[in-house]
Amino acid sequence: MQPIVSDSISITKIQTSKRSKVDFDNLVFGQVFTDHMFECDFVDGQWQAPKIVPYGPISLDPSAKVFHYGQAIFEGMKAFRDDKDKIWLFRPDQNIQRFNKSALRMSIPEFPEALFLEALSALVRLDAAWVPKGIGSSLYIRPFAIATEEGVSASPSKKYKFMILLSPAQSYYSGKVRVQIMEKYSRAANGGVGYAKTAGNYAAQFYPTALANQEGFQQVIWTDADKHEFLEEAGTMNLFFRINDTLITAPTGDRILDGVTRKSILTLAIDHHIATEERPITVTELLVAQQEGSLKEIFGAGTAAIVSPVYEFGFQGKVYALPESEDTFALKFKKYLNDIQYNLAPDLHQWRYEVK
Ligand SMILES: *Cc1c(COP(=O)(O)O)cnc(C)c1O
Repeated sequence: MQPIVSDSISITKIQTSKRSKVDFDNLVFGQVFTDHMFECDFVDGQWQAPKIVPYGPISLDPSAKVFHYGQAIFEGMKAFRDDKDKIWLFRPDQNIQRFNKSALRMSIPEFPEALFLEALSALVRLDAAWVPKGIGSSLYIRPFAIATEEGVSASPSKKYKFMILLSPAQSYYSGKVRVQIMEKYSRAANGGVGYAKTAGNYAAQFYPTALANQEGFQQVIWTDADKHEFLEEAGTMNLFFRINDTLITAPTGDRILDGVTRKSILTLAIDHHIATEERPITVTELLVAQQEGSLKEIFGAGTAAIVSPVYEFGFQGKVYALPESEDTFALKFKKYLNDIQYNLAPDLHQWRYEVK
């Protein structure tokens, strides 16, 4: 872990909140940010004094390495308001640990875990009025780190900026999606950075996803980069298949991001006596199951939408439909997760963390 100059967070508050100007009934995801942000710079081999300041633009030299080599990582998590106006984070330890795993892979200094949690709490506490009410609504939290050293030499930066932004988000239901199984483009390869939440992973997906969009698919299913045999992730979500009454998901590793939603669903499945298998699953197995009628569901899982059910998938120019049902695993797990996140059910696994 990297040294830190001070772990007490200084706070500079805004004069007047811009909250009253925000239309909370018509929030577009990730467009509106709260009054404050957290900031901490890494200089001279140390994280410097952490601070919370009014939200606003930052100034960087145009030669800063993040602009040239994409040395950048991020996280995505949420804060929830319960019916007694308590505010909760969901498994923040998991995001903090994953952030530092991404940091290590991208040669970015790790951020001290205890300070990370304190920064999340202090910022959410200060902007608590921005956490929307109602099941499905939440405060989206975006921690990130970028390489800020000046100069275009291709070597790891000696300076970094770690920040946390907050963005109120409305209940987000994408509707059922049509996905295309990708054969030409790949998201991740063995030995690569697929398991890290690094900026470039997303940039590299935009073009293939746009091509799929043009063909009428909202999302893509990524297959392995080598033979395009194995079904791996859906866009920026982990992927689940229900064959008969068993829930199947690919094992995590170099190519599969270790999603908090994914691992929580696997634990909840045990709690609710639903059989799961973590194993590689092939396109061939999917097509056979679809033909036999044993393929009941496909859904993506991730923090933003929780679950994203698929109603049709495309492969090699053909489109295959999934059965319609009201009683789906996708909706069950969404409810189980919501119940824990909004403090409506007992927290058997100590996943909730109260921001006080
Ligand atoms: C963030 C992300 C996920 C979902 O992770 P959660 O922790 O559940 O939000 C899945 N796949 C990729 C590639 C991701 O970047």
